[in-house]
Amino acid sequence: MVNKILVIGACGQIGTELTQKLREIHGSNAVIASDIKPGAPGLMNAGPFEVADVMNEEQVKKIVVDHNIKEVYLMAAMLSATAEQNPLRAWDLNMKSLLFILNLAKERYIEKIFWPSSIAVFGPTTPKENTPQDTIMDPSTVYGISKQAGERWCSYYNDKFAVDVRSLRYPGIISYKTKPGGGTTDYAVEIFYEAVQNGTYTSFIDKDTSLPMMYMEDAIKATVDIMEAPKESIKVRSSYNLAAMSFTPKILANCIQKHLANFTIDYKPDFRQQIAESWPSSINDLNAREDWGWKPNYGIEELAKGMLEGVKKQLDNIEF
Ligand code: NAD
Repeated sequence: MVNKILVIGACGQIGTELTQKLREIHGSNAVIASDIKPGAPGLMNAGPFEVADVMNEEQVKKIVVDHNIKEVYLMAAMLSATAEQNPLRAWDLNMKSLLFILNLAKERYIEKIFWPSSIAVFGPTTPKENTPQDTIMDPSTVYGISKQAGERWCSYYNDKFAVDVRSLRYPGIISYKTKPGGGTTDYAVEIFYEAVQNGTYTSFIDKDTSLPMMYMEDAIKATVDIMEAPKESIKVRSSYNLAAMSFTPKILANCIQKHLANFTIDYKPDFRQQIAESWPSSINDLNAREDWGWKPNYGIEELAKGMLEGVKKQLDNIEF
Protein backbone atom coordinates (compact mmCIF):
# COMPACT_ATOMS: atom_id res chain seq x y z
CA MET A 1 0.00 0.00 0.00
CA VAL A 2 1.25 3.51 -0.83
CA ASN A 3 2.29 5.70 2.11
CA LYS A 4 -0.19 8.48 2.65
CA ILE A 5 -0.44 11.92 4.21
CA LEU A 6 -3.08 13.13 6.69
CA VAL A 7 -3.93 16.82 7.17
CA ILE A 8 -5.84 17.39 10.44
CA GLY A 9 -7.65 20.74 10.53
CA ALA A 10 -7.76 20.68 6.71
CA CYS A 11 -10.72 23.08 6.48
CA GLY A 12 -8.94 25.93 8.23
CA GLN A 13 -7.25 29.00 6.77
CA ILE A 14 -3.90 27.27 6.28
CA GLY A 15 -5.10 23.64 6.08
CA THR A 16 -7.26 24.30 3.00
CA GLU A 17 -4.40 25.65 0.91
CA LEU A 18 -1.85 23.23 2.35
CA THR A 19 -4.06 20.25 1.40
CA GLN A 20 -4.42 21.65 -2.12
CA LYS A 21 -0.65 22.02 -2.50
CA LEU A 22 0.12 18.56 -1.06
CA ARG A 23 -2.42 17.03 -3.48
CA GLU A 24 -0.73 18.82 -6.39
CA ILE A 25 2.62 17.37 -5.31
CA HIS A 26 1.66 13.84 -4.23
CA GLY A 27 -1.61 13.21 -6.07
CA SER A 28 -5.18 13.65 -4.78
CA ASN A 29 -5.59 10.14 -3.37
CA ALA A 30 -2.35 10.26 -1.39
CA VAL A 31 -3.58 13.12 0.80
CA ILE A 32 -6.43 12.53 3.26
CA ALA A 33 -8.07 15.75 4.45
CA SER A 34 -9.70 15.67 7.87
CA ASP A 35 -11.53 18.15 10.08
CA ILE A 36 -14.17 18.19 12.79
CA LYS A 37 -16.53 19.79 10.27
CA PRO A 38 -17.04 19.56 6.51
CA GLY A 39 -15.16 22.14 4.42
CA ALA A 40 -15.56 24.04 1.16
CA PRO A 41 -16.88 21.84 -1.70
CA GLY A 42 -13.64 22.50 -3.62
CA LEU A 43 -11.66 20.81 -0.84
CA MET A 44 -14.13 18.00 -0.07
CA ASN A 45 -14.57 16.96 -3.71
CA ALA A 46 -10.89 17.09 -4.67
CA GLY A 47 -9.84 13.96 -2.75
CA PRO A 48 -10.49 11.76 0.29
CA PHE A 49 -12.05 13.53 3.29
CA GLU A 50 -12.73 12.18 6.79
CA VAL A 51 -14.80 14.03 9.38
CA ALA A 52 -13.05 13.37 12.72
CA ASP A 53 -12.45 15.03 16.07
CA VAL A 54 -8.73 15.12 16.81
CA MET A 55 -9.61 14.71 20.50
CA ASN A 56 -11.06 11.28 19.71
CA GLU A 57 -7.88 9.18 19.74
CA GLU A 58 -9.49 5.97 18.50
CA GLN A 59 -11.14 7.71 15.56
CA VAL A 60 -7.87 9.34 14.44
CA LYS A 61 -5.83 6.18 14.98
CA LYS A 62 -8.31 4.26 12.83
CA ILE A 63 -7.86 6.78 9.99
CA VAL A 64 -4.07 6.47 10.34
CA VAL A 65 -4.16 2.65 10.21
CA ASP A 66 -6.90 2.29 7.56
CA HIS A 67 -5.20 4.69 5.13
CA ASN A 68 -1.60 3.67 5.92
CA ILE A 69 -0.77 7.24 6.93
CA LYS A 70 2.96 7.93 7.36
CA GLU A 71 2.99 11.74 7.50
CA VAL A 72 0.68 13.98 9.57
CA TYR A 73 0.20 17.76 9.33
CA LEU A 74 -1.52 18.75 12.58
CA MET A 75 -3.20 22.10 11.79
CA ALA A 76 -6.15 21.88 14.23
CA ALA A 77 -5.81 24.35 17.11
CA MET A 78 -7.62 27.15 18.89
CA LEU A 79 -6.06 30.47 17.83
CA SER A 80 -4.92 33.42 19.96
CA ALA A 81 -8.00 35.65 20.18
CA THR A 82 -10.52 32.79 20.49
CA ALA A 83 -8.31 31.01 23.04
CA GLU A 84 -8.43 34.04 25.34
CA GLN A 85 -12.22 33.55 25.52
CA ASN A 86 -11.86 29.78 26.31
CA PRO A 87 -8.45 29.34 28.00
CA LEU A 88 -8.88 25.80 29.34
CA ARG A 89 -10.53 24.46 26.20
CA ALA A 90 -7.72 25.97 24.15
CA TRP A 91 -5.07 24.37 26.37
CA ASP A 92 -6.86 21.03 26.17
CA LEU A 93 -7.21 21.03 22.37
CA ASN A 94 -3.77 22.44 21.58
CA MET A 95 -1.89 20.13 23.97
CA LYS A 96 -3.83 16.86 23.77
CA SER A 97 -3.92 16.83 19.98
CA LEU A 98 -0.15 17.32 19.77
CA LEU A 99 0.70 14.69 22.41
CA PHE A 100 -1.61 12.21 20.77
CA ILE A 101 0.05 12.61 17.35
CA LEU A 102 3.55 12.57 18.91
CA ASN A 103 2.64 9.27 20.59
CA LEU A 104 1.49 7.78 17.27
CA ALA A 105 4.97 8.56 15.94
CA LYS A 106 6.65 7.21 19.08
CA GLU A 107 4.74 3.95 18.53
CA ARG A 108 5.90 4.05 14.86
CA TYR A 109 2.45 4.23 13.31
CA ILE A 110 3.64 7.39 11.54
CA GLU A 111 7.09 8.54 10.44
CA LYS A 112 6.95 12.31 10.15
CA ILE A 113 4.94 15.14 11.72
CA PHE A 114 4.45 18.81 10.89
CA TRP A 115 3.12 20.93 13.75
CA PRO A 116 2.96 24.74 13.55
CA SER A 117 4.05 26.96 16.39
CA SER A 118 3.65 30.75 16.34
CA ILE A 119 5.29 34.09 17.11
CA ALA A 120 2.91 33.96 20.12
CA VAL A 121 5.58 31.93 21.96
CA PHE A 122 7.30 35.26 22.59
CA GLY A 123 6.17 37.72 25.24
CA PRO A 124 6.46 41.25 26.61
CA THR A 125 10.10 40.98 27.71
CA THR A 126 11.32 39.23 24.53
CA PRO A 127 13.53 41.55 22.40
CA LYS A 128 10.97 43.08 20.03
CA GLU A 129 13.08 43.86 16.97
CA ASN A 130 14.76 41.14 14.93
CA THR A 131 13.75 38.61 17.61
CA PRO A 132 16.39 35.83 17.68
CA GLN A 133 15.71 32.09 17.44
CA ASP A 134 16.83 31.55 21.03
CA THR A 135 15.76 34.27 23.41
CA ILE A 136 13.48 35.09 26.34
CA MET A 137 10.09 33.43 25.91
CA ASP A 138 7.44 34.61 28.35
CA PRO A 139 4.13 34.26 26.47
CA SER A 140 1.23 36.07 28.14
CA THR A 141 -1.63 34.41 26.21
CA VAL A 142 -2.95 30.88 26.75
CA TYR A 143 -2.36 30.30 23.03
CA GLY A 144 1.30 31.32 23.36
CA ILE A 145 1.74 29.20 26.49
CA SER A 146 0.32 26.17 24.65
CA LYS A 147 2.61 26.77 21.65
CA GLN A 148 5.68 27.16 23.86
CA ALA A 149 4.84 23.97 25.77
CA GLY A 150 4.17 22.25 22.43
CA GLU A 151 7.63 23.24 21.19
CA ARG A 152 9.21 21.67 24.28
CA TRP A 153 7.22 18.46 23.73
CA CYS A 154 8.36 18.30 20.08
CA SER A 155 11.97 18.72 21.12
CA TYR A 156 11.54 16.11 23.91
CA TYR A 157 9.97 13.48 21.62
CA ASN A 158 12.69 14.03 19.05
CA ASP A 159 15.41 13.73 21.66
CA LYS A 160 14.04 10.78 23.67
CA PHE A 161 12.14 8.79 21.05
CA ALA A 162 13.71 9.89 17.71
CA VAL A 163 10.36 11.26 16.53
CA ASP A 164 10.81 13.22 13.29
CA VAL A 165 8.68 16.26 14.10
CA ARG A 166 9.26 19.55 12.28
CA SER A 167 7.86 22.93 13.17
CA LEU A 168 7.70 26.59 12.15
CA ARG A 169 6.83 29.64 14.21
CA TYR A 170 4.38 31.12 11.70
CA PRO A 171 3.88 34.89 11.77
CA GLY A 172 0.40 36.27 10.88
CA ILE A 173 -0.68 34.48 7.71
CA ILE A 174 -2.52 36.56 5.09
CA SER A 175 -4.80 34.88 2.55
CA TYR A 176 -8.19 35.19 0.85
CA LYS A 177 -9.36 31.64 0.10
CA THR A 178 -10.50 30.60 3.60
CA LYS A 179 -11.54 32.90 6.45
CA PRO A 180 -8.97 33.22 9.26
CA GLY A 181 -9.85 31.36 12.45
CA GLY A 182 -9.76 33.92 15.28
CA GLY A 183 -6.18 35.19 15.46
CA THR A 184 -4.80 38.61 16.42
CA THR A 185 -3.44 39.28 12.92
CA ASP A 186 -6.85 38.68 11.26
CA TYR A 187 -7.21 42.46 10.78
CA ALA A 188 -4.74 42.20 7.90
CA VAL A 189 -7.17 39.91 6.05
CA GLU A 190 -10.42 41.71 7.00
CA ILE A 191 -8.99 45.03 5.79
CA PHE A 192 -8.87 43.76 2.19
CA TYR A 193 -12.49 42.52 2.22
CA GLU A 194 -13.73 45.78 3.73
CA ALA A 195 -11.61 47.85 1.33
CA VAL A 196 -13.06 46.10 -1.71
CA GLN A 197 -16.67 45.88 -0.44
CA ASN A 198 -17.11 49.14 1.51
CA GLY A 199 -14.03 51.31 0.85
CA THR A 200 -13.40 51.74 4.58
CA TYR A 201 -12.15 49.70 7.56
CA THR A 202 -12.02 50.05 11.34
CA SER A 203 -8.90 48.29 12.61
CA PHE A 204 -8.90 46.54 15.99
CA ILE A 205 -5.11 46.93 16.04
CA ASP A 206 -3.67 50.42 16.53
CA LYS A 207 -2.13 52.27 13.60
CA ASP A 208 1.54 52.02 14.56
CA THR A 209 1.65 48.45 15.91
CA SER A 210 4.07 46.50 13.77
CA LEU A 211 3.68 42.72 13.52
CA PRO A 212 5.48 40.01 11.51
CA MET A 213 3.33 38.80 8.59
CA MET A 214 3.52 36.41 5.65
CA TYR A 215 1.54 35.81 2.46
CA MET A 216 -0.05 32.34 2.30
CA GLU A 217 2.03 31.23 -0.73
CA ASP A 218 5.20 31.70 1.33
CA ALA A 219 3.74 29.91 4.38
CA ILE A 220 2.84 26.89 2.24
CA LYS A 221 6.24 26.93 0.55
CA ALA A 222 8.01 27.00 3.94
CA THR A 223 5.86 24.11 5.20
CA VAL A 224 6.53 21.96 2.13
CA ASP A 225 10.24 22.86 2.13
CA ILE A 226 10.88 22.00 5.78
CA MET A 227 9.05 18.68 5.36
CA GLU A 228 11.02 17.79 2.21
CA ALA A 229 14.42 18.78 3.68
CA PRO A 230 16.80 15.95 4.60
CA LYS A 231 16.43 14.91 8.24
CA GLU A 232 20.01 15.91 9.12
CA SER A 233 19.44 19.50 8.01
CA ILE A 234 16.66 20.03 10.58
CA LYS A 235 18.76 21.11 13.53
CA VAL A 236 16.09 22.98 15.47
CA ARG A 237 13.61 20.45 16.82
CA SER A 238 11.51 22.86 18.87
CA SER A 239 10.38 25.26 16.13
CA TYR A 240 12.07 27.55 13.58
CA ASN A 241 11.67 31.33 13.49
CA LEU A 242 10.21 32.24 10.10
CA ALA A 243 9.90 35.70 8.57
CA ALA A 244 8.88 37.49 5.40
CA MET A 245 7.83 41.07 6.26
CA SER A 246 6.56 43.29 9.07
CA PHE A 247 4.03 46.11 8.79
CA THR A 248 1.63 48.29 10.79
CA PRO A 249 -2.06 48.80 9.93
CA LYS A 250 -1.14 52.31 8.73
CA ILE A 251 1.54 51.03 6.35
CA LEU A 252 -0.84 48.38 5.00
CA ALA A 253 -3.59 50.97 4.52
CA ASN A 254 -1.17 53.20 2.56
CA CYS A 255 -0.32 50.25 0.37
CA ILE A 256 -4.02 49.54 -0.32
CA GLN A 257 -4.58 53.23 -1.14
CA LYS A 258 -2.12 52.88 -4.03
CA HIS A 259 -4.72 50.58 -5.64
CA LEU A 260 -7.93 52.03 -4.15
CA ALA A 261 -7.31 55.78 -3.80
CA ASN A 262 -10.54 56.46 -1.84
CA PHE A 263 -9.96 53.78 0.82
CA THR A 264 -10.13 55.13 4.39
CA ILE A 265 -9.17 53.57 7.71
CA ASP A 266 -9.80 54.37 11.36
CA TYR A 267 -8.67 52.63 14.54
CA LYS A 268 -10.58 51.20 17.51
CA PRO A 269 -8.15 48.90 19.34
CA ASP A 270 -9.84 46.16 21.41
CA PHE A 271 -8.51 43.32 23.64
CA ARG A 272 -6.40 42.05 20.73
CA GLN A 273 -4.22 45.19 20.93
CA GLN A 274 -2.74 43.95 24.20
CA ILE A 275 -1.95 40.57 22.62
CA ALA A 276 -0.32 42.29 19.62
CA GLU A 277 1.80 44.47 21.91
CA SER A 278 3.19 41.39 23.65
CA TRP A 279 4.52 39.97 20.36
CA PRO A 280 7.68 40.80 18.38
CA SER A 281 7.67 43.48 15.67
CA SER A 282 10.14 41.63 13.49
CA ILE A 283 11.75 38.18 13.45
CA ASN A 284 15.26 36.91 12.76
CA ASP A 285 14.98 33.68 10.74
CA LEU A 286 18.66 33.08 10.00
CA ASN A 287 18.55 29.47 11.28
CA ALA A 288 15.79 28.51 8.82
CA ARG A 289 17.69 30.20 5.98
CA GLU A 290 20.95 28.46 6.83
CA ASP A 291 19.67 25.01 7.80
CA TRP A 292 17.18 24.26 5.02
CA GLY A 293 17.39 27.19 2.61
CA TRP A 294 14.31 29.24 3.58
CA LYS A 295 13.75 32.37 1.49
CA PRO A 296 10.43 34.25 1.15
CA ASN A 297 9.14 35.37 -2.25
CA TYR A 298 6.48 37.91 -1.20
CA GLY A 299 6.83 41.41 0.26
CA ILE A 300 4.04 43.81 1.22
CA GLU A 301 3.53 45.18 -2.35
CA GLU A 302 3.09 41.69 -3.83
CA LEU A 303 0.88 40.72 -0.88
CA ALA A 304 -1.44 43.74 -1.36
CA LYS A 305 -1.72 43.17 -5.11
CA GLY A 306 -2.37 39.43 -4.68
CA MET A 307 -4.93 39.98 -1.91
CA LEU A 308 -6.90 42.66 -3.79
CA GLU A 309 -7.10 40.52 -6.93
CA GLY A 310 -7.93 37.38 -4.92
CA VAL A 311 -10.59 39.06 -2.77
CA LYS A 312 -12.32 40.53 -5.86
CA LYS A 313 -12.37 37.10 -7.51
CA GLN A 314 -13.62 35.49 -4.29
CA LEU A 315 -16.45 38.03 -3.93
CA ASP A 316 -17.45 37.57 -7.59
CA ASN A 317 -17.80 33.83 -6.98
CA ILE A 318 -19.52 34.51 -3.62
CA GLU A 319 -17.61 31.59 -2.10
CA PHE A 320 -16.26 33.36 0.97
P1 NAD B 1 -8.00 27.75 11.62
O1 NAD B 1 -8.69 28.08 12.88
O2 NAD B 1 -8.36 28.51 10.39
O3 NAD B 1 -8.20 26.20 11.31
C1 NAD B 1 -8.15 25.21 12.28
C2 NAD B 1 -9.00 24.05 11.80
O4 NAD B 1 -8.97 23.05 12.83
C3 NAD B 1 -10.47 24.43 11.58
O5 NAD B 1 -10.90 24.04 10.29
C4 NAD B 1 -11.22 23.66 12.67
O6 NAD B 1 -12.50 23.20 12.26
C5 NAD B 1 -10.27 22.50 12.91
N1 NAD B 1 -10.49 21.93 14.25
C6 NAD B 1 -10.73 22.59 15.41
N2 NAD B 1 -10.94 21.73 16.40
C7 NAD B 1 -10.81 20.50 15.87
C8 NAD B 1 -10.91 19.18 16.40
N3 NAD B 1 -11.21 18.98 17.70
N4 NAD B 1 -10.72 18.14 15.57
C9 NAD B 1 -10.43 18.32 14.25
N5 NAD B 1 -10.32 19.55 13.69
C10 NAD B 1 -10.51 20.61 14.50
O7 NAD B 1 -6.43 27.83 11.90
P2 NAD B 1 -5.26 28.16 10.86
O8 NAD B 1 -5.12 29.62 10.79
O9 NAD B 1 -5.43 27.39 9.61
O10 NAD B 1 -4.02 27.62 11.70
C11 NAD B 1 -3.48 26.32 11.53
C12 NAD B 1 -2.32 26.15 12.51
O11 NAD B 1 -1.35 27.17 12.28
C13 NAD B 1 -2.72 26.28 13.99
O12 NAD B 1 -1.93 25.42 14.76
C14 NAD B 1 -2.35 27.71 14.32
O13 NAD B 1 -2.08 27.87 15.70
C15 NAD B 1 -1.10 27.88 13.47
N6 NAD B 1 -0.83 29.30 13.18
C16 NAD B 1 -1.66 30.03 12.38
C17 NAD B 1 -1.38 31.37 12.12
C18 NAD B 1 -2.26 32.20 11.22
O14 NAD B 1 -2.00 33.39 11.04
N7 NAD B 1 -3.30 31.64 10.61
C19 NAD B 1 -0.24 31.97 12.70
C20 NAD B 1 0.56 31.21 13.55
C21 NAD B 1 0.28 29.87 13.76
